[in-house]
Amino acid sequence: MVDANITPIGVFCPRCEEKFAKAAGYGENYRQTLEKYLTAIPPEIKTSPEEYNKRIGLCEGCGQYLADSFTCLMCGCYVQMRAAKEVISCPLSKW
Ligand code: SF4
Repeated sequence: MVDANITPIGVFCPRCEEKFAKAAGYGENYRQTLEKYLTAIPPEIKTSPEEYNKRIGLCEGCGQYLADSFTCLMCGCYVQMRAAKEVISCPLSKW
């Protein structure tokens, strides 16, 4: 069930995380926030597990990926959040 306090249609970057986490009542833990965010994405807009893993693999091999913070230098987003939605694409068109 999707949390009524979440609108999982956008992609948020680390700057938005604290605001999002507080609004959703998730606390300040990044991994907890990410896990709940990914779980809350409606299935009709979520990428398949195969596509998600393909995207993450491409990000991990990309020079714009910051592994320490899980973010993309091109857009500032957490790559897991971008990769999890079918309609969202890589800013460098890698996926
Ligand atoms: S979203 Fe694109 S540009 Fe950003 S890290 Fe992934 S592959 Fe690289």
